[in-house]
Amino acid sequence: MASTATAAPRNYSVEELDELKRKNDDLARLEWRTRPDVVKCWPQYLTIMNTYKCDLECPMCFKQLDDVFNMSLPDMEWSIFEKVAHECFPHLRKINLSVSGEPLISRNIFRELELMRKYRVKTDITTNGMPLARRGLLEALLPACHALTVSFDAATKQSFEYIRKGAHFDTVVKNLKLFNEMRQKLPPEERPTFRMNHVYQHANAKELVLLVELAHEIGIDYVNIEHVYVHRDYQETTSMLNHRRLANEMFDRAKERAQQLGLNAKFAPLYDVSDGIPDYPYTPPAQEWLHAEAKKKNPAKLFRDAAPQPAGALPLAQRDGITNNKDFIAMREKSWFIPRAFDYGVPQFGDSLIPDDQVKYNHCIYPWREAFVSWDGEVVPCCSPALFEAGHMGNLKKFDTFEGIWNGEIYQRLRKSIREGRTYKFCRHCYVVNPEDPESYSLT
Ligand code: SF4
Repeated sequence: MASTATAAPRNYSVEELDELKRKNDDLARLEWRTRPDVVKCWPQYLTIMNTYKCDLECPMCFKQLDDVFNMSLPDMEWSIFEKVAHECFPHLRKINLSVSGEPLISRNIFRELELMRKYRVKTDITTNGMPLARRGLLEALLPACHALTVSFDAATKQSFEYIRKGAHFDTVVKNLKLFNEMRQKLPPEERPTFRMNHVYQHANAKELVLLVELAHEIGIDYVNIEHVYVHRDYQETTSMLNHRRLANEMFDRAKERAQQLGLNAKFAPLYDVSDGIPDYPYTPPAQEWLHAEAKKKNPAKLFRDAAPQPAGALPLAQRDGITNNKDFIAMREKSWFIPRAFDYGVPQFGDSLIPDDQVKYNHCIYPWREAFVSWDGEVVPCCSPALFEAGHMGNLKKFDTFEGIWNGEIYQRLRKSIREGRTYKFCRHCYVVNPEDPESYSLT
């Protein structure tokens, strides 16, 4: 692997890039087996949050919980993206530009796509479909796109514009048809996959068959249908939890229609109704109400004026000069919030404190295979929410290179802990690796 000096951009030939990527594939395959602390391979997959902002305000999205105007949220600084690209892109084949913003409205999207083209990297993108109409975007995106997934949550204009608040149904459908038309002109080996994600909920409950038909008409390859995630109790009425039999019936009908049309579709499991509790009567939302909600003003609070997030346990401990896990856990006796995920310590303060009788094999290869880069330059190993700040392996604003973080002390401790089965608690009950673990979702 390269030295830790800042990677200078250089021009590679196609053959050189192919060779670098091939070598990295070989190294990665080997190191996923041996799982060393210090790696020679680069990540094979990078998720880069090129922006945190979004042009929509969908009511079920967690972004609305903080009541900040989504378009005032920040983009990733160009210098961070460039640093990662020049260093890592020569070695990897695929990235993902989507996390929790609309990647196609990043103010640097054209420069980002250009770097992908230069280094022969392709991206997965999840989009709301609105920005596809930006002048020149489809032409720049298609050669760099591995798969495009559109979030599309209703099959009629009124429900769509209520759920996808800020989007226009006709514009999105038109943009998607154009994307499909343009991708079909590419040779099959260069043609991006085209997927649709659908969040099934109260407002779109009776539109599933129509949705399947529309997806087929647009030219979607694959539809994925999930139930809405209820973040807070007051949002429960947005779900179909009180109308489980109706939801199951709609799923069955839509499955049958997808089969008739030959459309690949994956549905969330049917609701269990064995408790015998009857459905509440279902009344679809009135069209006028949907329309009025869709037109309601967005929150006016700007990100820069919002109160800063309170510091977590780890930064507070660092501020107070804590340097080891024993002292860190002992801080519980004070009033600090130290989540249960930190019971065996965190990699920032040393090896895990897991007792010998609790050592447990963990097959995770995330810290060897991929990394996530947040809009603010923070590098984390995976998407497990139980990591909290313990997942911060280093910030690209503080390190000269990505490699300085990728092979830094914190990453090394995390890798060692997983390889030896002496994981920190957040890895021991990780929902990414073992969603069946009953502790997975209760580590706060
Ligand atoms: S939290 Fe889970 S996915 Fe992340 S590094 Fe630990 S075991 Fe792997």
